Amino acid sequence: MSSDQKEVASFFQSVERNFDKAAKYTEFTKGLLEEIKSCNTVLQFKFPVRIGGDIEVIEGFRVQHSHHETPAKGGLRYSENVNQDEVMALAALMTFKCAVVDVPFGGAKGGVKIDARKYPAESLEKITRRYTAELCKKNAIGPGVDVPAPDYGTDARIMSWIIDTYRSYFPKDINALACVTGKGLTQGGIKGRKEATGLGVFFGIREACKMEEDMKKIGLTTGIKDKKVIIQGLGNVGYHAAKYLWEAGAKIVGILEYEGAIYNPEGFNLEEVVRTRQETGSLLNVTDAIIKNENSSKGLEWDCDILIPAALESVIHKGNADQIKAKIIGEAANGPLTPEADEILDKKGVMIIPDMYLNAGGVTVSYFEWLQNLNHIQFGRLEKRFNQNKYREILKAAETLSGKKAEANVRENMHGADEIDIVRSGLEETMIQAYREVRNVYVSTPGVENLRTAAFIVAINRIGHTYGELGIFP
Ligand code: NAD
Repeated sequence: MSSDQKEVASFFQSVERNFDKAAKYTEFTKGLLEEIKSCNTVLQFKFPVRIGGDIEVIEGFRVQHSHHETPAKGGLRYSENVNQDEVMALAALMTFKCAVVDVPFGGAKGGVKIDARKYPAESLEKITRRYTAELCKKNAIGPGVDVPAPDYGTDARIMSWIIDTYRSYFPKDINALACVTGKGLTQGGIKGRKEATGLGVFFGIREACKMEEDMKKIGLTTGIKDKKVIIQGLGNVGYHAAKYLWEAGAKIVGILEYEGAIYNPEGFNLEEVVRTRQETGSLLNVTDAIIKNENSSKGLEWDCDILIPAALESVIHKGNADQIKAKIIGEAANGPLTPEADEILDKKGVMIIPDMYLNAGGVTVSYFEWLQNLNHIQFGRLEKRFNQNKYREILKAAETLSGKKAEANVRENMHGADEIDIVRSGLEETMIQAYREVRNVYVSTPGVENLRTAAFIVAINRIGHTYGELGIFP
């Protein structure tokens, strides 16, 4: 296949290509690998909605890529660009993403082909309820079947309309709240979901930067402190990833948004940049920027240690991959590199921390939300006070034995874990363990060229063994 042909591979084909690269390092039969790779269910449907006095026929999709674990899990996207190939690719990525971080879901994705910004709230509600009704009729939604979440163009409010519609179809389902995640806190949502993906990106990059041998290979020292970071997209994921890196001592030297890009080798005060952008409407009004460029994507090529694309897909391609100076690319967005850019950067020796691992913090915390909904009790409620009392007794005993009073911050930290503590600790543990597992496959499997292939190997092995344990393919 020529390089030009490679560049026009569809999104789903590029996921399949990455799968095939990894599959050859696994022990499974051709048939089982085909089953793991295929999309199990692809629903495409059209439904009428009365809008502005006339009927509008809307196109919807729901793809359940894999049923090796149930429910299937994945976001719901409202976008004019939604098409079957994109929904299939994103559903497949969800399967592998969940498997990498050992979250027991199959992968899914949904889409409604509308520009959500063009509709008033009441029309969006009608569209959402009618889309959900289609899923209910087709048995394609439910806490044990398929669980949507917000994605591009959807939010917590849309999740509430979905729950309400689902309940009208299944009024006796006492687990109805678990039919979607990413809900508002008053609707059964979980604390820490909003920042989960960005915090997961931080934990993943921090773990990668701890490995002395790997850092030496790319000419960096270990640790986050003083690393120069460029971030593309100051949205939910980008802002939170930048915030946690900045708080850990990294220098945010470049920030890219759709209106332009700014650079300062000494690093920006992130909160001031956000404030200026909010007050004036543009990043380009930040006064301590040394370089400003209205062509935002130029900023991807500026000097830094870590580049974090956190906006759109395919922003690094064969046209700019050679100009990238970063030593590490942390894929916070889904699919920010085209397959050809991936190859060019690999050859340059850039360390790419792949999306299917790095942005898995969102689905990890969605898993916690789903568990909390099924348990019908908030994390920490049973044991928080008990633990707190025990910790205080231990501290008191230590103070008596040593004859010294503990410092005030130690005393303040003597509290039992509540919902947010448990969510953050579960997320940190998940991201650290998954990185170590992926890296271990990378360094110990001869021929595996990068962390992306290693992540796919981890995912395929986990899914393949699940099928084995189920006895489906003896
Ligand atoms: P978001 O809409 O909150 O943020 C995206 C940001 O990118 C916005 O601030 C937007 O202005 C900016 N942007 C748009 N075009 C740009 C351009 N040309 N150059 C620079 N910036 C541009 O979305 P998000 O939830 O932060 O998602 C970002 C990416 O992360 C997407 O690829 C998404 O699929 C992926 N992701 C998100 C989550 C999650 O939990 N939100 C989870 C996994 C993956």
